[in-house]
Amino acid sequence: MKLALTTVTCLTALAASAAAQDLGPNIRRITDGIYVQSAREVNSTVGIVLTSEGVVLIDTGQTLVDTRQVQDAIRKLTPLPVRYVINTEVHPDHTSGNFVFSPPAVVINHAGAGEAMRKADNPNRFATASPEIQAAAQGYRLVPPHVEYRERMTLRVGERTFELLHLKNAHSEADTAVWLPQERVLFAASVAIPNSLNNIRPFVTLPDMLAAIRMLRALNPEVVVPGHGSFGTTRIFDDTERYFTLLIERVGALVREGKSVEQIRKELRMPEYSGWAYQERMPTNIDAAYRAVTQASR
Ligand SMILES: [Zn+2]
Repeated sequence: MKLALTTVTCLTALAASAAAQDLGPNIRRITDGIYVQSAREVNSTVGIVLTSEGVVLIDTGQTLVDTRQVQDAIRKLTPLPVRYVINTEVHPDHTSGNFVFSPPAVVINHAGAGEAMRKADNPNRFATASPEIQAAAQGYRLVPPHVEYRERMTLRVGERTFELLHLKNAHSEADTAVWLPQERVLFAASVAIPNSLNNIRPFVTLPDMLAAIRMLRALNPEVVVPGHGSFGTTRIFDDTERYFTLLIERVGALVREGKSVEQIRKELRMPEYSGWAYQERMPTNIDAAYRAVTQASR
Protein backbone atom coordinates (compact mmCIF):
# COMPACT_ATOMS: atom_id res chain seq x y z
CA MET A 1 0.00 0.00 0.00
CA LYS A 2 2.78 2.35 1.03
CA LEU A 3 4.78 1.39 -2.05
CA ALA A 4 1.75 1.96 -4.27
CA LEU A 5 1.21 5.40 -2.75
CA THR A 6 4.86 6.31 -3.29
CA THR A 7 4.62 5.18 -6.90
CA VAL A 8 1.50 7.28 -7.44
CA THR A 9 3.18 10.29 -5.81
CA CYS A 10 6.27 9.87 -8.01
CA LEU A 11 4.19 9.50 -11.17
CA THR A 12 2.13 12.58 -10.28
CA ALA A 13 5.30 14.58 -9.65
CA LEU A 14 6.77 13.37 -12.94
CA ALA A 15 3.61 14.26 -14.83
CA ALA A 16 3.53 17.72 -13.23
CA SER A 17 7.18 18.49 -14.04
CA ALA A 18 6.80 17.16 -17.59
CA ALA A 19 3.74 19.35 -18.08
CA ALA A 20 5.61 22.39 -16.78
CA GLN A 21 8.57 21.79 -19.12
CA ASP A 22 6.34 21.19 -22.13
CA LEU A 23 4.99 24.73 -21.86
CA GLY A 24 8.32 26.11 -23.10
CA PRO A 25 11.38 27.51 -21.36
CA ASN A 26 10.00 31.03 -20.84
CA ILE A 27 6.73 30.14 -19.13
CA ARG A 28 6.54 29.91 -15.37
CA ARG A 29 3.69 28.93 -13.09
CA ILE A 30 2.71 31.45 -10.39
CA THR A 31 -0.06 29.48 -8.73
CA ASP A 32 -2.87 27.10 -9.72
CA GLY A 33 -3.95 28.00 -13.24
CA ILE A 34 -1.90 31.21 -13.47
CA TYR A 35 1.21 31.34 -15.66
CA VAL A 36 3.56 34.07 -16.83
CA GLN A 37 5.68 34.27 -19.94
CA SER A 38 8.71 36.53 -20.16
CA ALA A 39 11.36 35.60 -22.71
CA ARG A 40 14.18 37.80 -21.36
CA GLU A 41 14.63 39.96 -18.27
CA VAL A 42 13.52 43.28 -19.80
CA ASN A 43 10.87 41.76 -22.08
CA SER A 44 7.18 42.33 -21.67
CA THR A 45 5.24 39.74 -19.68
CA VAL A 46 2.15 37.76 -20.63
CA GLY A 47 -0.29 36.53 -17.99
CA ILE A 48 -2.18 33.33 -18.79
CA VAL A 49 -5.10 32.79 -16.43
CA LEU A 50 -7.16 29.61 -16.77
CA THR A 51 -10.77 29.54 -15.68
CA SER A 52 -13.58 26.98 -15.95
CA GLU A 53 -15.05 29.15 -18.75
CA GLY A 54 -11.89 29.73 -20.77
CA VAL A 55 -8.67 31.68 -20.71
CA VAL A 56 -8.03 35.32 -19.84
CA LEU A 57 -4.78 36.69 -21.27
CA ILE A 58 -3.03 39.76 -19.95
CA ASP A 59 -1.01 41.22 -22.86
CA THR A 60 0.29 39.23 -25.81
CA GLY A 61 4.11 39.16 -25.79
CA GLN A 62 7.26 41.13 -26.58
CA THR A 63 7.31 39.85 -30.18
CA LEU A 64 4.91 37.79 -32.25
CA VAL A 65 7.26 34.80 -31.82
CA ASP A 66 6.54 35.08 -28.08
CA THR A 67 2.81 35.34 -28.87
CA ARG A 68 2.96 32.07 -30.82
CA GLN A 69 4.76 30.42 -27.90
CA VAL A 70 1.93 31.55 -25.60
CA GLN A 71 -0.62 30.22 -28.09
CA ASP A 72 1.11 26.81 -28.09
CA ALA A 73 1.31 26.74 -24.28
CA ILE A 74 -2.41 27.51 -23.95
CA ARG A 75 -3.26 24.61 -26.30
CA LYS A 76 -1.35 22.29 -23.96
CA LEU A 77 -3.00 23.70 -20.83
CA THR A 78 -6.65 23.67 -21.85
CA PRO A 79 -9.04 22.83 -24.69
CA LEU A 80 -10.99 26.01 -23.84
CA PRO A 81 -10.66 29.20 -25.93
CA VAL A 82 -9.11 32.55 -24.96
CA ARG A 83 -12.20 34.55 -23.99
CA TYR A 84 -10.63 37.90 -23.12
CA VAL A 85 -7.36 39.70 -23.78
CA ILE A 86 -6.70 42.56 -21.38
CA ASN A 87 -4.09 45.04 -22.64
CA THR A 88 -2.16 46.77 -19.85
CA GLU A 89 -1.01 49.54 -22.23
CA VAL A 90 -1.21 50.51 -25.92
CA HIS A 91 2.35 49.73 -27.14
CA PRO A 92 2.98 46.94 -29.69
CA ASP A 93 5.17 44.89 -27.31
CA HIS A 94 1.97 44.29 -25.32
CA THR A 95 -0.76 44.41 -27.98
CA SER A 96 0.40 43.36 -31.46
CA GLY A 97 -0.52 39.73 -30.73
CA ASN A 98 -4.22 40.61 -30.12
CA PHE A 99 -5.06 39.35 -33.62
CA VAL A 100 -3.79 35.84 -32.80
CA PHE A 101 -6.57 35.35 -30.21
CA SER A 102 -9.31 37.60 -31.59
CA PRO A 103 -11.76 36.45 -32.74
CA PRO A 104 -13.08 34.88 -30.57
CA ALA A 105 -11.34 36.83 -27.77
CA VAL A 106 -12.75 40.21 -26.71
CA VAL A 107 -9.97 42.79 -26.18
CA ILE A 108 -10.28 45.24 -23.28
CA ASN A 109 -8.36 48.34 -22.17
CA HIS A 110 -9.13 51.78 -20.78
CA ALA A 111 -10.73 54.56 -22.86
CA GLY A 112 -8.22 56.13 -25.26
CA ALA A 113 -6.42 52.89 -26.09
CA GLY A 114 -8.02 52.33 -29.51
CA GLU A 115 -7.36 55.90 -30.69
CA ALA A 116 -3.70 55.73 -29.62
CA MET A 117 -3.20 52.32 -31.27
CA ARG A 118 -4.79 53.44 -34.56
CA LYS A 119 -2.59 56.56 -34.65
CA ALA A 120 0.62 54.62 -34.03
CA ASP A 121 -0.17 51.67 -36.29
CA ASN A 122 2.24 51.05 -39.13
CA PRO A 123 0.91 48.47 -41.60
CA ASN A 124 4.52 47.87 -42.79
CA ARG A 125 5.61 47.12 -39.23
CA PHE A 126 6.99 43.71 -40.13
CA ALA A 127 8.39 44.47 -43.62
CA THR A 128 12.02 44.47 -42.46
CA ALA A 129 11.58 41.96 -39.62
CA SER A 130 13.41 38.63 -39.40
CA PRO A 131 11.93 35.67 -41.31
CA GLU A 132 10.97 34.18 -37.92
CA ILE A 133 8.94 37.28 -36.99
CA GLN A 134 7.43 37.51 -40.47
CA ALA A 135 6.23 33.91 -40.20
CA ALA A 136 4.70 34.65 -36.78
CA ALA A 137 3.05 37.78 -38.24
CA GLN A 138 1.03 35.81 -40.83
CA GLY A 139 -2.49 37.25 -40.76
CA TYR A 140 -1.49 40.34 -38.76
CA ARG A 141 -4.04 43.13 -38.40
CA LEU A 142 -4.46 45.81 -35.81
CA VAL A 143 -7.00 44.73 -33.18
CA PRO A 144 -7.76 47.67 -30.87
CA PRO A 145 -9.96 47.04 -27.82
CA HIS A 146 -13.59 46.06 -28.39
CA VAL A 147 -14.39 47.26 -24.90
CA GLU A 148 -13.04 50.49 -23.44
CA TYR A 149 -13.96 51.04 -19.79
CA ARG A 150 -13.55 54.15 -17.63
CA GLU A 151 -11.63 54.18 -14.32
CA ARG A 152 -12.62 50.71 -13.13
CA MET A 153 -14.18 47.52 -14.40
CA THR A 154 -14.99 44.14 -12.85
CA LEU A 155 -14.76 41.09 -15.09
CA ARG A 156 -16.04 37.73 -13.83
CA VAL A 157 -15.06 34.66 -15.80
CA GLY A 158 -15.82 31.23 -14.36
CA GLU A 159 -14.65 31.10 -10.75
CA ARG A 160 -12.35 34.11 -11.06
CA THR A 161 -12.76 37.86 -10.58
CA PHE A 162 -10.58 40.39 -12.37
CA GLU A 163 -10.55 44.01 -11.21
CA LEU A 164 -9.32 46.30 -13.98
CA LEU A 165 -7.84 49.49 -12.57
CA HIS A 166 -6.96 52.54 -14.65
CA LEU A 167 -3.50 54.01 -14.04
CA LYS A 168 -3.73 57.65 -15.13
CA ASN A 169 -0.70 59.18 -16.98
CA ALA A 170 1.46 56.29 -15.79
CA HIS A 171 3.14 55.03 -18.98
CA SER A 172 1.04 55.08 -22.18
CA GLU A 173 -2.22 56.66 -23.38
CA ALA A 174 -4.22 53.90 -21.63
CA ASP A 175 -2.76 51.79 -18.80
CA THR A 176 -4.61 49.04 -16.94
CA ALA A 177 -3.54 47.04 -13.90
CA VAL A 178 -5.34 43.72 -13.35
CA TRP A 179 -6.00 42.65 -9.76
CA LEU A 180 -7.17 39.15 -8.82
CA PRO A 181 -8.36 39.72 -5.24
CA GLN A 182 -9.03 36.05 -4.37
CA GLU A 183 -5.61 34.90 -5.60
CA ARG A 184 -3.88 38.13 -4.46
CA VAL A 185 -2.04 38.30 -7.77
CA LEU A 186 -1.52 41.72 -9.37
CA PHE A 187 -0.61 42.36 -13.00
CA ALA A 188 0.84 45.81 -12.45
CA ALA A 189 1.33 47.18 -16.03
CA SER A 190 4.44 49.25 -16.80
CA VAL A 191 4.47 51.92 -14.09
CA ALA A 192 7.19 50.12 -12.08
CA ILE A 193 9.64 47.83 -13.85
CA PRO A 194 12.23 45.91 -11.82
CA ASN A 195 15.85 47.06 -12.22
CA SER A 196 15.05 49.16 -15.26
CA LEU A 197 14.56 52.82 -16.18
CA ASN A 198 11.21 53.56 -17.74
CA ASN A 199 10.75 55.54 -20.94
CA ILE A 200 8.79 58.48 -19.50
CA ARG A 201 6.79 60.21 -22.22
CA PRO A 202 5.93 63.95 -22.07
CA PHE A 203 2.29 63.40 -21.00
CA VAL A 204 3.32 61.10 -18.13
CA THR A 205 3.89 62.74 -14.75
CA LEU A 206 5.92 61.51 -11.79
CA PRO A 207 3.19 62.47 -9.27
CA ASP A 208 0.72 60.34 -11.26
CA MET A 209 3.23 57.47 -11.47
CA LEU A 210 3.84 57.65 -7.73
CA ALA A 211 0.10 57.79 -7.01
CA ALA A 212 -0.41 54.68 -9.16
CA ILE A 213 2.43 52.83 -7.42
CA ARG A 214 0.99 53.64 -3.98
CA MET A 215 -2.53 52.63 -5.01
CA LEU A 216 -1.25 49.28 -6.33
CA ARG A 217 0.90 48.59 -3.26
CA ALA A 218 -2.07 49.31 -0.97
CA LEU A 219 -3.90 46.35 -2.53
CA ASN A 220 -1.37 44.25 -0.63
CA PRO A 221 -0.72 41.69 -3.36
CA GLU A 222 1.25 38.51 -2.70
CA VAL A 223 2.61 38.34 -6.25
CA VAL A 224 3.33 41.36 -8.46
CA VAL A 225 3.75 40.75 -12.19
CA PRO A 226 5.19 43.89 -13.77
CA GLY A 227 4.55 44.73 -17.44
CA HIS A 228 8.21 43.90 -18.09
CA GLY A 229 10.69 41.64 -16.30
CA SER A 230 10.44 38.99 -13.61
CA PHE A 231 7.51 38.72 -11.24
CA GLY A 232 8.11 39.34 -7.55
CA THR A 233 6.63 41.17 -4.59
CA THR A 234 5.69 44.77 -3.71
CA ARG A 235 9.44 45.40 -3.45
CA ILE A 236 9.18 46.29 -7.15
CA PHE A 237 7.05 49.28 -6.05
CA ASP A 238 9.35 50.20 -3.14
CA ASP A 239 12.41 50.25 -5.41
CA THR A 240 10.78 52.46 -8.04
CA GLU A 241 9.32 54.83 -5.44
CA ARG A 242 12.76 55.21 -3.79
CA TYR A 243 14.38 55.87 -7.17
CA PHE A 244 11.84 58.58 -8.13
CA THR A 245 12.04 60.19 -4.68
CA LEU A 246 15.83 60.48 -4.96
CA LEU A 247 15.62 61.71 -8.56
CA ILE A 248 13.11 64.44 -7.65
CA GLU A 249 15.27 65.42 -4.66
CA ARG A 250 18.44 65.78 -6.78
CA VAL A 251 16.74 67.58 -9.68
CA GLY A 252 15.05 69.89 -7.12
CA ALA A 253 18.42 70.80 -5.58
CA LEU A 254 19.85 71.68 -9.01
CA VAL A 255 16.74 73.72 -9.93
CA ARG A 256 17.17 75.72 -6.71
CA GLU A 257 20.78 76.40 -7.79
CA GLY A 258 19.30 78.00 -10.90
CA LYS A 259 20.30 75.26 -13.35
CA SER A 260 18.43 74.80 -16.63
CA VAL A 261 17.02 71.42 -17.63
CA GLU A 262 19.84 71.10 -20.24
CA GLN A 263 22.47 71.67 -17.53
CA ILE A 264 20.74 69.21 -15.21
CA ARG A 265 20.72 66.56 -17.94
CA LYS A 266 24.52 66.97 -18.24
CA GLU A 267 25.34 67.15 -14.54
CA LEU A 268 22.95 64.83 -12.74
CA ARG A 269 24.24 61.40 -11.74
CA MET A 270 22.32 58.52 -10.18
CA PRO A 271 25.19 56.11 -9.44
CA GLU A 272 22.99 54.00 -7.12
CA TYR A 273 20.99 53.00 -10.22
CA SER A 274 23.78 52.70 -12.82
CA GLY A 275 23.16 48.94 -12.93
CA TRP A 276 19.55 49.36 -14.07
CA ALA A 277 18.74 48.61 -17.71
CA TYR A 278 18.00 51.32 -20.30
CA GLN A 279 20.34 54.09 -19.01
CA GLU A 280 19.69 55.91 -22.32
CA ARG A 281 16.20 56.69 -20.97
CA MET A 282 17.67 58.85 -18.19
CA PRO A 283 17.03 62.17 -20.06
CA THR A 284 13.28 61.36 -20.17
CA ASN A 285 13.41 60.66 -16.42
CA ILE A 286 15.20 63.95 -15.70
CA ASP A 287 12.71 65.87 -17.85
CA ALA A 288 9.81 64.32 -15.92
CA ALA A 289 11.43 65.18 -12.57
CA TYR A 290 12.09 68.73 -13.82
CA ARG A 291 8.42 69.12 -14.78
CA ALA A 292 7.37 67.79 -11.36
CA VAL A 293 9.70 70.15 -9.48
CA THR A 294 9.00 73.32 -11.50
CA GLN A 295 5.23 72.77 -11.78
CA ALA A 296 4.91 72.05 -8.06
CA SER A 297 6.63 75.34 -7.14
CA ARG A 298 4.60 77.40 -9.61
ZN1 LIG B 1 5.26 50.50 -23.19
